[in-house]
Amino acid sequence: MQTDYDVVIVGAGPAGSTTALYATQAGLNVLLVDKKQFPRDKICGDAISGKSITYLKELGLLDCVERAPHRKVNSVLFSAPNGKSVKIYFKPSPENGNLHGYICRRLIFDNILFQAAQEKVDTVEGFTVTDVLRESGRVLGIVGRETGGASQEIRARIVVGADGFSSIISRKLGIYDMDPDHWIVATRAYYRGVSVDPEAIELNYIEDILPGYFWIFPADDGMVNVGLGMVHSRLKKKGIRLRYAHLEAVKAPHFRERFEQAEQIGDIAGWNLPVGSKRRVISGDGFVLVGDAAGLIDPFTGEGIGNAMCSARIAARVIAEALSDGDVSAARLATYDQRLWQRLGPELRLSYQLQKIGQIKPLINLVVSKAAANPDVADWIAGMMAGIIPKRELANPLTYVKLLFK
Ligand SMILES: Cc1cc2nc3c(=O)[nH]c(=O)nc-3n(C[C@H](O)[C@H](O)[C@H](O)COP(=O)(O)OP(=O)(O)OC[C@H]3O[C@@H](n4cnc5c(N)ncnc54)[C@H](O)[C@@H]3O)c2cc1C
Repeated sequence: MQTDYDVVIVGAGPAGSTTALYATQAGLNVLLVDKKQFPRDKICGDAISGKSITYLKELGLLDCVERAPHRKVNSVLFSAPNGKSVKIYFKPSPENGNLHGYICRRLIFDNILFQAAQEKVDTVEGFTVTDVLRESGRVLGIVGRETGGASQEIRARIVVGADGFSSIISRKLGIYDMDPDHWIVATRAYYRGVSVDPEAIELNYIEDILPGYFWIFPADDGMVNVGLGMVHSRLKKKGIRLRYAHLEAVKAPHFRERFEQAEQIGDIAGWNLPVGSKRRVISGDGFVLVGDAAGLIDPFTGEGIGNAMCSARIAARVIAEALSDGDVSAARLATYDQRLWQRLGPELRLSYQLQKIGQIKPLINLVVSKAAANPDVADWIAGMMAGIIPKRELANPLTYVKLLFK
C-alpha cells in the first residue's frame, strides 16, 4: 500500500465518499479507508431528499440511484398527537427541480457512492483507524490496521475525519463533543407486511416523544423502514427507554391495525444523531471533519445525508485551495468552517427553533388540523418543504395566531 497521500479520508459513508469524489475533480491524490467492507448497512431512515439530490445530480450519480432498488416518494403524511393527519405533496425544488424524494436503503445507497469513489481514488476496506499521527500539534496522517493485519502508518498532507458519530479522529484530537442537548438517539427496524401509502413518507408526532417523531417510510421490495428518535437529554429527563417506546408506538391505537400482519426483519437497532444545533470544532492544523463527525444533522428533521454531502463538497474545495497554496494550517483550513456555516448555519439555527416549537403539542395539533381542512395551508407547508416559502415563517409566533383564524 502507498503510504503518502495528499488527502486521507477516514470513513466511506456519504461524507467520506463524496469528499473523495469532489477531491478527485481537483486532481488530488486521495486514499479513502473504512473499517467495514462494502456494501454495509448504516442505521438510518434511508430518506434521500432535496439537498442530497442536488449533489447526486452534480456528481452524475442520480441515475445510479434510479437504477438501484429504491422507492420514489412524492408526499409526506403528517399526523398530530390528536390523531389528525394530512398528506402534503412535494413541490418542485427550486434548487434542483426535483419533485420526488427517494427511500434507498443505506446498504444500497452508500455502496453507490463508494463504488463511484473507488473508480477514482485508492480505497481500503476493512481498515480500522486507531490513531492520528501528529507532530507539534499538526496532523500528519493516520495509524490503523487491516483486519488481522499489523498496525501501519499512512501519511497525508490533510486528514479528513468522515468517520461518523463516534469519530476516532475527533476523539484522538480531543475535540469530540457529545452534548446531550445536541444529540438525538433513534431506533430503526425494517418490517414487511405493514399497510402503507407506497408514495408517501410518514412523520407521526406522538405525544411522549415530542419533539421527535415516529416515522414509517416505504422501502423497496415490500419493506418498510420504521423508527423513532428523541433528543438525548429529554429522553433521560423523561426516563424513556427508546426500544420500548418503539414497540409501544407500533402497538398504539393509531398504528396497531397496520402492524397486525407485519413481520419484523432483523432487530430494532439504535444509533445516534449529532445535530447541528451547536457549532463544534471541525478543523485544525492538517485536518477537517465532515458529515456526522462534524455534527451537522438537521435538528428538526433528523436528515444528515444532504448536509454530509454539502460539507464534503465545501471541504474538498477548501482542501484543494489550501494544498495549492502549500498552507494546511488551522488558520487556512478555518475557511472550511466559515463557508460551511455560511451555507448551513441559518437553516440549522432555524431548525433548532423548530425543534423547540415541536415540543408544543397544541401547535402541532393546530398546524396539522388546519392543513387537513384548508388546501391553502397545506400548500403553504408544501412551499416551505420545497424551500419556496422561507421556513422561518414556521418559527414566527404570529403564524400560529393567523392559523387560528384560517
Ligand atoms: C436512526 C437514524 C435515522 C436517520 N434517518 C435519516 C434519513 O432518513 N435521512 C437522512 O438524510 N439522514 C438520516 N440520518 C442521519 C444519517 O444517517 C447521517 O447523517 C449520515 O449517515 C452521515 O453520513 P457520514 O458519512 O457522515 O457518516 P456515516 O454514514 O456514519 O459513515 C461513517 C463511516 O465511517 C466508518 N468508520 C467509523 N469509524 C472508523 C474507523 N475508526 N476507521 C475506519 N472507518 C471508520 C464507518 O464504518 C462508516 O462507514 C439518520 C440517522 C439515524 C441514526
